[in-house]
Amino acid sequence: MTFRELNLDERLLDGLDSMGFEKATPIQEQAIPIILAGKDLIACAQTGTGKTAAFLLPILHQLTRQPREGISTLILVPTRELAMQIDEQLEAFAYFTEVSSIPIYGGQSKDSFEQEKKALTTGADIIIATPGRLTAHLNLGYVKFQDIKYFILDEADRMLDMGFINAIQSISKFLPQKRQTLLFSATMASKIKKFAQTILSEPEFISLAVSKPAENILQAVYQVNEYQKLALLEYVLNPSRSKEGLVLIFSSSKIGTKEIAHALTRKGLEVAEMHSDLKQEDRKQVLRKFENGQIQILVATDILSRGIDVDGIQLVINYDMPPDPEDYIHRIGRTARAESTGTAISFITRRDKQRLEKVERLMEKKVHILALPKSIADMPAPERDKNSDNRSRTKRPVERQKR
Ligand code: AMP
Repeated sequence: MTFRELNLDERLLDGLDSMGFEKATPIQEQAIPIILAGKDLIACAQTGTGKTAAFLLPILHQLTRQPREGISTLILVPTRELAMQIDEQLEAFAYFTEVSSIPIYGGQSKDSFEQEKKALTTGADIIIATPGRLTAHLNLGYVKFQDIKYFILDEADRMLDMGFINAIQSISKFLPQKRQTLLFSATMASKIKKFAQTILSEPEFISLAVSKPAENILQAVYQVNEYQKLALLEYVLNPSRSKEGLVLIFSSSKIGTKEIAHALTRKGLEVAEMHSDLKQEDRKQVLRKFENGQIQILVATDILSRGIDVDGIQLVINYDMPPDPEDYIHRIGRTARAESTGTAISFITRRDKQRLEKVERLMEKKVHILALPKSIADMPAPERDKNSDNRSRTKRPVERQKR
């Protein structure tokens, strides 16, 4: 189905045209008519399905048809990176319209707080915010949400996992009762459904809940011991084996991320790290450098596993297996974006076997096991690892630890 057949405003069609979007994706085909009809919606869809445009386009369409007064739309998202990314897409779609937007997320300078305050008081049309930062503004009393018509929760499952449920519920009390609410989530666990009942009214329901990664991702695992991982990583990253393209390495902890990045830097590789200890400005800069290829290798926590859309990631490496199988799918979905192909390699220790089984059950697919190169298979175990049942040296993440 084309966007024209979805009856979107001509100016949005021009924006889509300049972005090279030709046909609507399935989630867009299903969600856009429901949103245009003014109904509340719960949509179960992962990143990579085109879900952002599925809610932005119909809202922009409605906004081009209404007198614009105050803030009309509030989009809540779990992370700053996602807020920035949605804002970028929005700017591109809305390029030929008058609609304005501002992202509101924490960790920046005093100036940006003032700028956000101004937008919240004088009214950009669309606010894209993380719940924590928005709550900080709301508590200061100047936020005017009486004109909100559209309230969107993106990656609701992630926001609940991050402990934002109370913040979201108190934010929703600032919004008019009469509004259209849209909830997007990659999973539909019962806690999401229960939560949805408290803030949506007679919602329509769409599910594209294929918890399956794109078919064009080649997946493989190495079975290793903890002490072999770094040598294996160097082997996989060896330029004679790894193709041109960006490499994203996931570790399950901040400490692990730093250790891996330092070890690779010592080997003379151009590496950057990304985790929640970095200042917002530094995070932005790292992501920018990665996007434009100035840095080829990025080591990250799960802060980057969802929603981040960087073209040209050829290889995703799970240095540690994530505890949650959905996170595995999100991580490997960072490669093979937009119809291209990619590879995902995971390092599995004996204690990760169950994690791999969970992933395979979720995907209904077995992952190919690669033989360890001989030099690594023959590595002698350090004394301390001999009796430790492969205990990890890097700290395991604490549940809900800030990533
Ligand atoms: P999302 O699921 O919103 O994170 O989108 C994933 C990627 O698909 C983003 O790079 C979008 O720009 C792109 N995309 C979304 N909708 C379309 C479309 N209809 N045609 C081509 N690319 C799209």
